[in-house]
Amino acid sequence: MRVTLDHARDLDRQDPLADFKQHFALPEGVLYLDGNSLGAQPRAARDAVAATMDQWRDELIKGWNQGWFDAPERLGNRLAPLLGAGEGEVVVTDNITLNLFKLLGYLVGRRSDGRRAVLSEGGNFPTDGYIAQGFCRFGGYTHRVLPEGDDLAAHLDGVAVVVLSEVNYRTGRRRDMAATTRLVHAHGAEVIWDLAHSAGALPVALNDSGARYAVGCTYKYLNGGPGAPGFLYVRRDCQEEGWQPLSGWHGHAAPFAFDADYAPAADITRFRTGTHSALAYSALEASLDLWAEVDMPTLRAKSLALTELFRDCLADVLATHGIEDITPALEERGSQVSLIDAAHGYAIVQALIARGVIGDYREPGLLRFGFTPLYLSHEDVWHAARHFREVLEAGEYRDPRFSVRAAVT
Ligand SMILES: *Cc1c(COP(=O)(O)O)cnc(C)c1O
Repeated sequence: MRVTLDHARDLDRQDPLADFKQHFALPEGVLYLDGNSLGAQPRAARDAVAATMDQWRDELIKGWNQGWFDAPERLGNRLAPLLGAGEGEVVVTDNITLNLFKLLGYLVGRRSDGRRAVLSEGGNFPTDGYIAQGFCRFGGYTHRVLPEGDDLAAHLDGVAVVVLSEVNYRTGRRRDMAATTRLVHAHGAEVIWDLAHSAGALPVALNDSGARYAVGCTYKYLNGGPGAPGFLYVRRDCQEEGWQPLSGWHGHAAPFAFDADYAPAADITRFRTGTHSALAYSALEASLDLWAEVDMPTLRAKSLALTELFRDCLADVLATHGIEDITPALEERGSQVSLIDAAHGYAIVQALIARGVIGDYREPGLLRFGFTPLYLSHEDVWHAARHFREVLEAGEYRDPRFSVRAAVT
């Protein structure tokens, strides 16, 4: 390989984030490049969940007054700095899918100017489009799709709300959040940002980019655990504009008054729905303890260094095997490397997994590798690239067992 192992080790010696790796429990022999689907386990998460189990056993229902009930707002405030948001602007609750539905209802339902269309983007993660379809179908609104690569401005006529990902889950391409937000607002529409592949992957600047609404998850780059709760951001001055459609008791102004009628809480709490899992919140909170120590610009620098290292190690062999590298240029890049091989992509990813190099495959033809600066070293990336090269050069992926499809890819 053009890049030497010594060079990778040198980079590790100069890495200001190197110490974080010891705080993650990673299985021996695994090189994990799938933190963009499910983040690795912070060592402290196990004890945190065990402590909540003990609290449940010993304190029973009193636990709700010992930090369980207000976890959505407490964790939201802890998450806010990573997103460029302020105190009281983020609530950790439900998941992206439900949070999108809530924001769509909150934004479209109140419009009196006749705009009834919801625009979602082609090529985005499907749930964003699915939920827009379901919302429109039952609410009598119109769903439209922005074809991938098309000019957004040309599609905003009559649109009340557009749902956009800051970083595309397939290509890893990052939109300019500030410029896009300005454009959408200038056309009289609102934008809901999906931060699934931004939160914990790079510094997000919600306030500074003028964003009013966003959703995201915590089980990908934020390492909150499988099924960890999602989050929802509403800028402080936009929080009292009506009901959100999932008007459950936890979003009520006085949930324990048990009033017959719904009255939304005055603040970000109105975006809660019903009872949440205290266990799930405790795993996420252990991860947020680590995040509190992370300098986001430093994280960004390492993320870009890792993706560049992987590409440098592989450039020649990818070209030889006809694999296309569609990873965006540095300034437009999320924290992933995206490759296209329609014929062998699935089998190559399976052959890599058999060697302990875990990436993932997304139809059609996409090999996706996520780079998580807190628990990946430059040496890890070098070895992952070495395995990749060996899989290609030996034709290992041609083994028929690597073409068998599992339920979750
Ligand atoms: C992962 C992902 C989701 C997942 O939605 P959930 O409701 O958390 O399952 C949504 N949108 C995007 C862009 C994603 O990448």
